[in-house]
Amino acid sequence: MVRFAPSPTGDMHIGNLRVALFNYVIAKQKNEKYLIRIEDTDNERNIEGKDKEILQILKIFGIEYDQVVYQSENFKVHWKFATDLLSQKKAFVCFCTPDEIEKQRQIAQEEKRPYRYSGKCEELSDIEVLQREDEPFVVRLKKPKENIKFFDYIKGEMEFSPFDIDSFVILRQNKIPTYNFACAIDDMIYDISLIIRGEDHLSNTPKQIAIQKALGYEKEIKYAHLPIILNIDGKKMSKRDSASSVKWLLEEGFLPEAIANYLILLGNKTPKEIFSLQEAIEFFDLSKLSKSPAKFDIDKLRFINHEHLKQKDDLASLLQIHKSLNALAKVYLEEASTLKELKAKIDEVLAPRGEFEEWQEEIELIKKEILDNELEDDYNEFKNRISKNTGLKGKKLFMPLRLVLTNQTHGPNISDIYPAMKHLIKEIVNGN
Ligand code: GLU
Repeated sequence: MVRFAPSPTGDMHIGNLRVALFNYVIAKQKNEKYLIRIEDTDNERNIEGKDKEILQILKIFGIEYDQVVYQSENFKVHWKFATDLLSQKKAFVCFCTPDEIEKQRQIAQEEKRPYRYSGKCEELSDIEVLQREDEPFVVRLKKPKENIKFFDYIKGEMEFSPFDIDSFVILRQNKIPTYNFACAIDDMIYDISLIIRGEDHLSNTPKQIAIQKALGYEKEIKYAHLPIILNIDGKKMSKRDSASSVKWLLEEGFLPEAIANYLILLGNKTPKEIFSLQEAIEFFDLSKLSKSPAKFDIDKLRFINHEHLKQKDDLASLLQIHKSLNALAKVYLEEASTLKELKAKIDEVLAPRGEFEEWQEEIELIKKEILDNELEDDYNEFKNRISKNTGLKGKKLFMPLRLVLTNQTHGPNISDIYPAMKHLIKEIVNGN
C-alpha cells in the first residue's frame, strides 16, 4: 500500500499535490492500494473543513484512492504501542520540564553544538516514576544502539547514527502522539511499502524506522524524499508565494491536468513535455527525478496550460459561458493562457461598447450596414459588401469593424472572429 498523509492545517501546497500525484502514479503502476491519511493529531493547528477541501482537490485532479483514515481515530492504538514500549523499557517516562529543555537548548546553541536530550530521566526506576505519577511527563523512545539505514529512490542509501536520532518524544504531555510516532505506527499497521514525501521529512525517517524496529516490525519500507520546490528567486516556495496554493492556481484558471502535467515534469526527465496523468502512469520512473531542488516557473505552467487548453473541444463549459460562445473562445485562445484570461477576453467582446471617438463616424456607418442586411456566412462577402456600401477601405474599414465586433483595438484576425460570432453580431450592435 502507498499513502498520502496531508495535515488539514492550511491550503494544499503544490508540494503536497506533487506528493499525492506521485503516490497515485506509483499505486497505479504497481497495482497497489492507495490510502489517504489525514494527519489531524495537532488539534491547535487543524483548520475546520481543510480535510474536505483536500479530498475535493484530489477529486478535481482525478486522484482516486481506496481508503481515507483520520489519524486521530487511531490514538488508542498509538497509546497501546507506547505502553508496550514502556513496559519493554524501550521507551521511558521523562519529567524534564519544557523550561529545563529550553535552557539546555540554549546552552547547546551557545556552545555551537546540536542540542541532544541529556538522558536525565532515562535511568529513573519504576518506583521513582510511580511516585511522581501526578507530575506532567512525556514519553521518549530510547535512542537506538545501532545506525539506522534505509534506501531512498532519489537520495540512494542513507545512514543515520544514534546521535542523529536521539531519545526523542513519542507522546506529549497531553498524551497526544507526536507526528513521528503516529506516522511510524500507522505506516506499519496499514502495511505501507513505499513512502513518497517531501525531503523536509528526511531527518524524521530514521526516527520512524527506530520506532518500528523497537516494536519488532521487520518489513523494509522504501522511501523517496522529493526535493523541495523553489520559487523563481531560488527560495523555498512558501505560503507567501500565491502560486504555491493549489486553490489559487485553480482560481486563476489553470486546468488540473495542466497543473498535474507541470508538477510531474518539474525536476524530472520525461519522454515528452505535454502529457496526461494516464500517460504519466506509463512512463513515470521515480529514479529519474533530479536530486536538486526544482524551480517553479509560472511561465512554463502557463505554456503547458495553453497547450492543454488547445486540446479542449468544449471551452464554453470550462468557462461556464453559453455554448454558442465556444467557437469564439477557441479563436481567442491564441490571446490567453488561462481560463481566467480567456474569460476576460470574451467578456470584453460582449461588454457594452466604449467610446472610440476617432472612429465614431465609420462605426455608425458599419453598424447601419450590419443591421440593414442579412449577414453573409462568408467573411469576404460580408467585408466586401460593407466596403462597397460604406466606401470605407483599408485601415478606415478594418479598425472600426474590429471595434464594432470586438470592442478592442487588437486581437485575433477578424476573418477568424467573424464566423465564430456571426450569430451574435446583430444583437451586439443592437445593444449599443
Ligand atoms: N502530515 C505530514 C505532512 O503533511 C506527512 C508527512 C509524511 O508523508 O509522512 O508533511
